[in-house]
Amino acid sequence: MKGIGLDIEVIKSLSDNYIWILINYDKSAAFVVDPGEASAVLSWLKKRKIKLLGILITHHHPDHTMGVKGLLNCYDVPVYGPHNSPANCITEKLQENDDLIFHGKKFRVIEVPGHTHDHIAYFSSQIFGANHILFAGDTLFGGGCGRLFEGTAQQMYGSLEKIKELPQNTLIYSGHEYTLANLNFAISIEPNNDTLKQRYLNDLQKRNVNQPTLPSLLSLELATNPFLRVKNDSVISAVREKFNINDDSEYVIFEALRKWKDIF
Ligand code: ZN
Ligand code: FE
Repeated sequence: MKGIGLDIEVIKSLSDNYIWILINYDKSAAFVVDPGEASAVLSWLKKRKIKLLGILITHHHPDHTMGVKGLLNCYDVPVYGPHNSPANCITEKLQENDDLIFHGKKFRVIEVPGHTHDHIAYFSSQIFGANHILFAGDTLFGGGCGRLFEGTAQQMYGSLEKIKELPQNTLIYSGHEYTLANLNFAISIEPNNDTLKQRYLNDLQKRNVNQPTLPSLLSLELATNPFLRVKNDSVISAVREKFNINDDSEYVIFEALRKWKDIF
């Protein structure tokens, strides 16, 4: 809603990265999330005469941090990021429950290790237009979740459990456009999930006209994303059948599901 809340816009970057830009209500200043490159962000800001106020980093991977140096050459701004990050560009080190204020809106830091050890997400606990928002980085994607590069399945499962507890009307802003591939996998797990099949058609339409499928609503992820549904019988039975698992504790199912997606 213009004039009331903040705006969020997107810059498409590299092959399938999204750089989210958080803009204040009078469109004079912005935070940028996970700039994997500088030039696209610099020209975007210049064109709109918007001043950069800060950089938010979710985790250390180059496709989320490579643009920081180039931005700092033009703007003297703080770089927020995880306290335990190997990325040496971070000046404001954040941990669980730390707050960040952008133009009167509070963002809370949630530690979500799994994809990397140093992964954090940024949650706005105040109503943002009609919704809450989460900058999820590479932890939660449309219809899927991040690969386990550094953390364990148990860590990633715990991180997704934290996200599941957020308000259902939270908008999820992820770091990549992976939704259709993820939904293809999801449909192979839950072929009888009608909400999932309808979501695939809706998102396919968006991609056909080169629109992002993100942000998506947490309520939709809960209904369609198999990685958030490892307590559901349909997901449990698909995984048990594929891997011959007797143990049905949630993170064991989650771990097997993540492995399945890796080889899908
Ligand atoms: Zn990553
Ligand atoms: Fe990434």
